[in-house]
Parts: sequence; structure tokens; C-alpha cells
Amino acid sequence: MEKQQLKDLTLEEMQKWVESLGEKKFRAQQIFRRIYEGAISFEEMTELPKELRSRLDGCAEIGSVRQIRRQISEKDGTRKYLFQVRGGAAVESVFMKYRYGNTACLSSQAGCRMGCAFCASGADGLQRNLTAGEIVDQMISMSRDAQERIGHIVVMGTGEPFDNYDELIRAIRILHDQNGPDISLRNITVSTCGLLPKILSFARDMPQVSLAVSLHAADDEKRRILMPVASSYSMAELLNVCRQYTEMTRRRITFEYALIDGVNDAEEDARKLSVRLKGMLCHVNLIPLNRVRESGFAGTTRKKAEKFAEILQKYRIPVTIRRELGSDISAACGQLRLQEKEESKDR
Ligand code: SAH
Repeated sequence: MEKQQLKDLTLEEMQKWVESLGEKKFRAQQIFRRIYEGAISFEEMTELPKELRSRLDGCAEIGSVRQIRRQISEKDGTRKYLFQVRGGAAVESVFMKYRYGNTACLSSQAGCRMGCAFCASGADGLQRNLTAGEIVDQMISMSRDAQERIGHIVVMGTGEPFDNYDELIRAIRILHDQNGPDISLRNITVSTCGLLPKILSFARDMPQVSLAVSLHAADDEKRRILMPVASSYSMAELLNVCRQYTEMTRRRITFEYALIDGVNDAEEDARKLSVRLKGMLCHVNLIPLNRVRESGFAGTTRKKAEKFAEILQKYRIPVTIRRELGSDISAACGQLRLQEKEESKDR
């Protein structure tokens, strides 16, 4: 029988599992706590009876991702990690230092099947969904390696989090648990390319978690060129669902907009976007596109980005131009990719 991966379980699930072994329920909390204090073996859980420890050894495992590479940016101390998951796939995760605290950018899938034209993550399609434990453990492993506490999470690494919805929700429950990493829900942000039914589920399941939506265009025509998902859902439908989301949660949505030279960065695009977003409780995050080898696209100039922002401001749409961290180690948005061999070709 396959061993139970303990980081895949919420505390409640672990309680049931422990009871199914014929053990007392309170043992689950002891085990859960010790795991997120950093225990990597049952041996060190000395508050558990010896017999239980060896029993756990036989039927359960604690760790779930294995660090295979680490790069540290000389510019800003950003750390990019490559983690191997069961079955051989690898995912990337990033540790960033912001003024407001340390932030982990986590992957939700190995690869991605959304196929956005400008993004490296989907270049090879989807390999598989990550389990909750594999999502959580990226954070735990980086925190241990950097010897730093992580207080903020963005699920903006490889993958479309809403294409792996159940494991995402389970991972958030674990990350938030007071007996575990104890991360405030408001400090967690999930980014989606816009899977509408899941945006509404998320409003119900996790109303306190922050939501970011990748927009990248001001009209359907352009959006369809950049993002295949736009052929399933129109922008009008997407923005309607975003309005519903805000009604349900009272939360401000962040719209991400990667500025691509000559594609979506004209003043006309900025005006169109402003008109569409007018009156919404939102914030626009402009990201000058990072170069990705296989796409022919290039990032906009600083000057054009500023002009774009200025127009949005005129329409009173809150906007920021994102500061890029880790671009010297290809850790910036859209540069995370699956395979190590792919990366070594870059150098
Ligand atoms: N699949 C989710 C999560 C990815 S988050 C989503 O689409 O939202 C990463 C963010 O970086 C998304 O907004 C994505 O569109 C953006 N991105 C992808 N490639 C990029 C690139 N080359 N330059 C800048 N941003 C990029």
C-alpha cells in the first residue's frame, strides 16, 4: 500500500486518518504541529509513544518535494528553487523579499494547459496537478532553506490554480491553520487566467483570500490572440463574474496586465481598458512583459508603461507598475518553466 503523504492532509483530515488507524484523535494535532515546526522524521516527535512513531514510519511520509536546484539573484536576493515532485516532474517556486514581508510564489501544477502565447509555463503543456502537500511544501522548504519566516503567499508560479481547484483549497486550509504555518488568509493571493465558474466557487469557499485576474487585453479580439481561455469566456462575461465576486466578498480584485510591445500597450488600449473597468472595485497591476524565448513578444518600454498608467489614473483606476524581482535568474512572471534542461539552454 502507498504511504500516506501527511502534508496532503488538512488537520481535520489528519484527525480522521489517525482515528482510522485506531489512535486517539488528539495525536493528529501533535503530529500536524510538529510537521509545520519543521520535523522531517517521526523519530524526532518524541512526545509520541515510541510504538506509534514506528507505526507511522511504516505507513506515512512527511516530506513531499525535494530541492534540486537553487539560484539566488545578485540584484535583489530573490531565490528561485527547482523542486522535484513524485513521479519525476519538477516545479519552480520563488522566495522574494518585499518591504511588507517575505513572500513565496508557489506553483499549483507541473506545467500548464492554458497555453497563453507569452508565458513560458505552458510551453510544454500540463504534466500533472500538484497535491496540496506539494503546494504547501514549496513554502515550507523555502522558508527552511532561507531561514526566514514567510508571511505572504502568491499562487502565481507555474500552472492555473483554478484548474487544480480542490487541491488549491486544501493547500490554503493547511497554510492558514493556526497549528501549522498560520498564514493569514488576507496575505494569500491566487491568480487566475479567468475560469469563471471557479471564480464564483472561490468567492464562496475562500472569500478572505485575495484574487488576481490575468486580463492582458482590453477587448476580446486581442485577448483571444494572447490567451486561449478568452475563447471560452468573453471579457464581458469575465468582468460580470468579477463584479459578482466583489458583491459576494467585498474584496478588491487585482487585474494583471502584461504590457507587450506593439500588441496591447497603445494609448487606445489604455482608454478602452479604463472604460471597461470604470466603477469596479479593482486595481490594475501593469507588468512590462518579461522576455520568454519561444514567444516573439517583447516588453514595452518604461516610458510607454508610464503613459499607460497615466491614462488609467485619469479615469481614476488605481494602477501600479510592478517592480520586477529576480529577472536576472529568470524568476520573474511568466519565466518559470518546467524542465531544467530547458533552462540550461538559456545560459
Ligand atoms: N495561471 C495563472 C497564474 C499565473 S500568475 C494566471 O494566469 O493568472 C503569473 C502572472 O504572470 C499571470 O498574470 C501571467 O499572465 C503573467 N505572465 C505570464 N507570462 C508573462 C511574461 N512573460 N511577462 C510578464 N508576465 C507574465
